[in-house]
Amino acid sequence: MKITFLGAARKVTGSCFHLSANGLQFLVDCGMHQGLESDELNRRPFGFNPREIDCVFLTHAHIDHTGLVPRLVREGFKGSIITTAATAELSRVMLADSAHIQEMDAQWMTKKARRAGSEKVVEPLYSVEDAIASIPFFEKKQYGEVYNLKNGFRYRFCDAGHILGSATLELWYRNSPERTILFSGDIGKKGNPIVQDPEHTAKADYVVVESTYGNRLHKGVGDSLEELAGAVESTFRRGGNVYIPAFAVGRTQDLIYIFNKLVREGRLASPLEIYVDSPLADEVTKIYSSHPELFDKDAKGLFGKKKGKAVRVHFTSSVDASMKLNRITSGIIVLAGSGMCDGGRIRHHLKHNLWRPECSVVFVGFQAKGTLGRAIVDGSKEVWILGDKVAVQSRVFTIGGFSAHADQKELLEWLGLFQNKPEVFIVHGEESAALDFEKQVKEKLGFVTKVPALGESYEI
Ligand SMILES: [Zn+2]
Repeated sequence: MKITFLGAARKVTGSCFHLSANGLQFLVDCGMHQGLESDELNRRPFGFNPREIDCVFLTHAHIDHTGLVPRLVREGFKGSIITTAATAELSRVMLADSAHIQEMDAQWMTKKARRAGSEKVVEPLYSVEDAIASIPFFEKKQYGEVYNLKNGFRYRFCDAGHILGSATLELWYRNSPERTILFSGDIGKKGNPIVQDPEHTAKADYVVVESTYGNRLHKGVGDSLEELAGAVESTFRRGGNVYIPAFAVGRTQDLIYIFNKLVREGRLASPLEIYVDSPLADEVTKIYSSHPELFDKDAKGLFGKKKGKAVRVHFTSSVDASMKLNRITSGIIVLAGSGMCDGGRIRHHLKHNLWRPECSVVFVGFQAKGTLGRAIVDGSKEVWILGDKVAVQSRVFTIGGFSAHADQKELLEWLGLFQNKPEVFIVHGEESAALDFEKQVKEKLGFVTKVPALGESYEI
């Protein structure tokens, strides 16, 4: 079998691996590139003919693993998109949301070009129609079951413990002697809120493993919970609100869960009023609630049940309801996207409140260079938001312990659980993280390793 690394090679986003053998061609993930030069990367030719792809396996619903599916379908893909039920459901709302953002961006760029005297019309990467057209291709599968594909291929998804529906993919591609390759997807850290801990398979001949935090160790969750409770309590005492930029999928649901836990344990006073200001987060949370069978023991009973008065979660879908939130000046927590403040409703909240010393902004996720979130975290005294200069006078907290990814130690432990010594391809990490992790895997586990470059192929 031939494997070609078409994305997430020496970088974090754009996961896409092309496999061909026995007259079949398939992809594992078809993700969007994000960050520097992403527009160009997302628009260039795929490197295969979408009409010839028999199936696409998706490891989870994050857009850097699924975001180019609508483009694939628009360019003639007619195969199956195979994934877990929860990933299929989450992808439906996320791909539509992504398409909407693409359309808005294209409109904005066209307008900008017009203003500069150009006739150029910027086409969106794909449209909402393309996203909707992708949905019938999805096939929902169960964790733990071995399914036959065709031509002797078999596969199985196991829980990766990263977000709802996230999976590792095990693929049997030869029978005698039997050969397997395992794709880690994104691996969760143990004890992630809501979802189960990552499952493990006994052996594999090849493993394609992520390395997002291949060179870093996370701070303990205990300290982070303490810090979060302290931030909320001190802000309420000063008479302000807490604003938390959060991605709609995974992080928002984790935070709702964490705040429930803090109130239940008496570390925050009840009732706690949380406003989730994002239509996407509302839909995603409903999908989370409809899959209690995927929750870990602690989380069962949190979603789906009436929660009593300890924590009151309000979803504000309409723009009108979102704007009304500005009238509440103290005592609430507002969760809104985007996670890095480079888009979404959080920017309106920051514009109206960042200058208020009694308020706080709590960052719980990675802030990429060049984003508004990064400027605030880095200590800018004033920032531009939606055309206005705003003084940064709120208190700013950066809390690092809530990442949904395994860190270096946990990634090594995960690899160390294989009973044989698989050959390892390290992907989905910035180059420095991937290379650092490779060194550790060689030294500590003695595995043969490769850190593939973009477009590189191997015969396995
Ligand atoms: Zn992910």
